[in-house]
Amino acid sequence: MLSFTIQNVLIAISDDYATVDVQVVDGKIAAISPNLQVIGTAIDGKNKLLLPGFFNAHTHSSEMWQRGIMSTFPLELWLAELYDFAPLDPEQVYLSALGTAVETLLSGGTSVVDHLVLIPGLELETIAIAARAYREVGIRAFIAPLIQDESLSAGIPSGESTQSHEPYFRSTAATLEIIEEAVRQFHRPDEGVSILVAPTGIQLCTDALFAGCIELSDRYNLCRHSHLLETRAQEKLAQEKYGCTAVEHLKKIGFLSDRTTLAHCVWLNDADIAILAETQSTVVHNPLSNLRLGSGIAPILKYRQAGVNVTFGCDGASSNDSQDLLEAIKIGSILHNVTDSDYQHWITPRQAVEMASLGGAKGFNLADQLGSLTVGKQADLVLYDLTNLSLLPRTDPIGLLVLGRPSNVVDSIWVNGKQIVTNHQVTTINVDELRQELFNRSQWQTKRKSETVAQIEAHYRTVMDL
Ligand SMILES: [Zn+2]
Repeated sequence: MLSFTIQNVLIAISDDYATVDVQVVDGKIAAISPNLQVIGTAIDGKNKLLLPGFFNAHTHSSEMWQRGIMSTFPLELWLAELYDFAPLDPEQVYLSALGTAVETLLSGGTSVVDHLVLIPGLELETIAIAARAYREVGIRAFIAPLIQDESLSAGIPSGESTQSHEPYFRSTAATLEIIEEAVRQFHRPDEGVSILVAPTGIQLCTDALFAGCIELSDRYNLCRHSHLLETRAQEKLAQEKYGCTAVEHLKKIGFLSDRTTLAHCVWLNDADIAILAETQSTVVHNPLSNLRLGSGIAPILKYRQAGVNVTFGCDGASSNDSQDLLEAIKIGSILHNVTDSDYQHWITPRQAVEMASLGGAKGFNLADQLGSLTVGKQADLVLYDLTNLSLLPRTDPIGLLVLGRPSNVVDSIWVNGKQIVTNHQVTTINVDELRQELFNRSQWQTKRKSETVAQIEAHYRTVMDL
């Protein structure tokens, strides 16, 4: 049970590769060395590369229903359109969570962080059904129920004008009660499902909501997750709201910590970066979403030089418009070469792999259990097929995996020692049935009209000098 031995597999060692056997006993890596005795099932690792599983450290699973159709808008308008057409059926949430898990796995991810949009009035049901989907697939899941306590229009700076906003439909206290109940019912880290406190960001959350999240995080030992300074509008808004930067404010209220992960982090200044380093916060880099929504290029090389931990996310599939983690890692590595002419700062393929695996483990306070091929750590492992056309001819396997355009290269995956991908197929759920359901519950469309965008677009253009 949960014991196996991968034989003759290629692993990365310092600046080189070695062919070894890897023994897994009771879900943990027990030994890594050539010519080990076979314990449990023998797995043929010949011509395959074994890496620790990556983290898809920021996504929103239900956005899958709108991928490919969202207008070419910046975040603030894009969000208005997104919410006007958000799925309101828990069954859809279930299917898109399955889809997100499958696409994450088949691009090398063994952990997914779902900043989960909650269906109003069905909040706990939404969390329950996502948890069920992830358990069925067997991917390690960090469910971060997305909460806010201000209405959407409050996320746009006022500028010279005076803006009034509708109160949010649910009280801050009621929202926090939902999260606490979710923790009681679904937070089972040992079983591969964790709940995070996840206020969506300074743009739509009061200090009271942040304070409540910090309190829950301390009381139940939960990691903290939030968007941070994704757009120039949010940078402006922080100044209007606090009279300082968002990072200074979050530090002041105590949200930043070594178990805080912050998605995007595009618009930070040097002093903000120093604060992230000092508080040991983690940046989740979502390069494709930042490009798609025109948010900007996050100063990732500066973070790395300042000693800030960085990992990668796909972000929701409506701003990406896929969940291909290898693609996010590739773009998220080479994008920054144009921002700094000193090539010694550029991210190498091996560094990118470490950011995607150990970087994620650190961010979610699991560096002692996950993120590297180390004896004693949990077996969250991905076996890549090096005979696939996209990984040929034989050069540097990690170089080609990160910089190439690998397709269908994931041969096998284990999470916590349990095999959930075999011979390029997810074996825990019926993926053909999933495809059929996604097909049947959708239709080809072209244009939609968002009423909320019509209401806020003129103000947005004025305040952003467009
Ligand atoms: Zn996001």
